[in-house]
Amino acid sequence: MSTKWIVGVDLGGTTTKLAFVTFDGVIVHKWEIPTDNTDEGKNITINIAKTIDEKLNELGQTKDQLIGIGMGAPGPVNYEKGILLNVVNLGWPDNYPLKESLEAATSLPAAIENDANCAALGEMWMGAGGGAKDLVCVTLGTGVGGGVIAGGRVVQGINGAAGEIGHITAVPTGGGQCNCGKTGCLETVASATGIVRLARLELAKGLESELSAKMTENGTFTAKDVIDAARNNDRLAKSVMNEVSFHLGFVLASIANTLNPEKIVLGGGVSKAGEFLLNPVKSNFEKYAFSAVRDSTKLALATLGNDAGVLGSAWLIKNKLNQ
Ligand code: ZN
Repeated sequence: MSTKWIVGVDLGGTTTKLAFVTFDGVIVHKWEIPTDNTDEGKNITINIAKTIDEKLNELGQTKDQLIGIGMGAPGPVNYEKGILLNVVNLGWPDNYPLKESLEAATSLPAAIENDANCAALGEMWMGAGGGAKDLVCVTLGTGVGGGVIAGGRVVQGINGAAGEIGHITAVPTGGGQCNCGKTGCLETVASATGIVRLARLELAKGLESELSAKMTENGTFTAKDVIDAARNNDRLAKSVMNEVSFHLGFVLASIANTLNPEKIVLGGGVSKAGEFLLNPVKSNFEKYAFSAVRDSTKLALATLGNDAGVLGSAWLIKNKLNQ
């Protein structure tokens, strides 16, 4: 096994996470830098190259220690061509040749992939996936991200847009507005934003809830407040979480009926609710999955937290270099 390192990068609109990773998936060092999206994003890959050099220096290493760099980016990606098809928040034009830009800046072989897919690869490699080659990963954060791995490969789709589980329609009529332009997407009910939106709708009906006090006190409340209130048996919050679990269980069963993955892994901030979320999702899942799927596809909580992205990105280049 090589003693060299690979670099995993998780590129976000405000923060870029980086890690040096060994070939057996151990994070040697991880750190973050702010993402500078001014000037049409022209500094992003330059800053990544710079911070890598500085970190190597700090650790008493040279560039020879590194074999390649993998990166997850927030948008649909053409993996073969290394192109980021479109992205908001980073300043780059559509069809940005990110792989080429990263290779030019760092002088390392690079591979890029969508960030949710990288999180799925991370969980497959070192997390809850436990090496499962057929895996679906759902990230319940501000939005809902998804990554589908079949036979150890990310399912890309014809336009890099496969696995966008968050935009599966969960509420066909009268659903909330989604950022993608549609209404009623899973993201509008099962993301942190979606949970708050549902609770606000219920509050507007004038129902009693401990969330009203939060609202009066702070002018707002969070998804965690809703989950905590549901744990306290608050009726309104419980009915919101029942709705969330229903939609998640229903959609995940439909995905499992199509793909029969070994595991479906739930990650992201909302998944920190743990078994309190997982158990009702499982009950709904079992109701809508058909027997052969119900007996073989397991639901699990993600275990890598914020490291899933950098680990998955590192795996990407490791796999590409066939090391
Ligand atoms: Zn949508």
